[in-house]
Amino acid sequence: MSEFTEFSLLASIIDRVSLKGYKQPTPIQKACIPALIDGNDLLGIAQTGTGKTAAFSLPIINKFGQNKIDIKAKSTRSLILTPTRELASQIMQNIDDYADGLGLKTKVVYGGVGRQAQVDAIALGLDILVATPGRLLDLMATGDINFQALEVFVLDEADTMLDMGFFNDVQSIISSLPKQRQTLLFSATMPTEIEILAQAILNHPTKVQIAAETVTIDLVNQSVYHLDKSNKVPLLFNILENPDFEKVLIFCKTKYGADIIVKELEKASITAASLHSGKTQAVREEALQNFKASTLRVLVATDVAARGIDVDNITLVVNYNLPEDPRNYIHRIGRTARAGKSGMAISFAVENDIRQLTNIENSIGQVIPVITQQPFHKEFSKAPIQSKKKKPAVKTSKKTNRSRTKRK
Ligand code: AMP
Repeated sequence: MSEFTEFSLLASIIDRVSLKGYKQPTPIQKACIPALIDGNDLLGIAQTGTGKTAAFSLPIINKFGQNKIDIKAKSTRSLILTPTRELASQIMQNIDDYADGLGLKTKVVYGGVGRQAQVDAIALGLDILVATPGRLLDLMATGDINFQALEVFVLDEADTMLDMGFFNDVQSIISSLPKQRQTLLFSATMPTEIEILAQAILNHPTKVQIAAETVTIDLVNQSVYHLDKSNKVPLLFNILENPDFEKVLIFCKTKYGADIIVKELEKASITAASLHSGKTQAVREEALQNFKASTLRVLVATDVAARGIDVDNITLVVNYNLPEDPRNYIHRIGRTARAGKSGMAISFAVENDIRQLTNIENSIGQVIPVITQQPFHKEFSKAPIQSKKKKPAVKTSKKTNRSRTKRK
């Protein structure tokens, strides 16, 4: 018996959840599932890693599993809109696991792959459609999908949609949906544009805020290495000599940079692949699958491609380049230390990065310790800029007023 039995969910869903190994609902699931079963709209301020996929999908599966209808051709009873192809296929995989045995019709659609199989699946009528905005608009434009039968709409990762420039697409999709529906909006942060959108599309929503980032970053052992740019590859090799780093995710700034790092690693017989928007969808999926299956030790990614990816047991995240937007620092290091495990995050900083590093430290409300006992350490000539002791942009439970510590 798990605490999931306390929700009014179909027995088969509870069985599936147990098979996935979930012992008890996460906080977001506890808050969302009853409210959604009651038919409420929902505003969820939470990021991936909190268990939000199950939080929104279990009630949807339950609703359609309990009430099967003949779905009209080219229509869907629910739409889950998410920004990236990786997230879309991850959500679909989870839903198909939870809904196994209920006979629901589901499909995921995104660009970069053939559209005919997508058109054919939608033609039969769907219970659940998971989509990225571009391909969905394309299918709408050709009349291959309509929303006359839509009952539930989920907008996932609304702030990422904004960051990736999909906001107009999202608004145009929303304007085609029937007004009478249940609406769920999830976002890790609430910039003004999202607040306005939430007010416009949600009807007396239940509000749920989960400070997942608090949990995540406290479990991550963070450090920064000061060095010259030319020493980045040698330092990376030096770090990777440690066999404990079995699964390593490296973030870098450009697609080109990611490919160069992969070439260097391959020369040293370290299995690696890159994940970025310059690769075809099939190659991206293959890289991710191989990384998940540990056939690859290292995945080198850009921010956009890696946002929200759910890979278990990443032992080390390396910021080969610091993120320009401090918020991405949290997203990046949150790839390790998932599901309550601890993890490590190492950031490389060259002298010109110091201001960026200070911005990151201000945003997390912590000073990241500098590792000086490493072969490529460089003392920077400028005095380090003191982190302002201001209220962190992200809540953390750690003390925020540590001095810049040097660790061995
Ligand atoms: P999400 O935030 O939906 O991307 O979920 C993050 C990870 O947590 C996924 O690998 C899920 O399979 C897992 N997960 C979701 N709910 C639970 C739960 N109640 N107990 C344990 N793991 C969970």
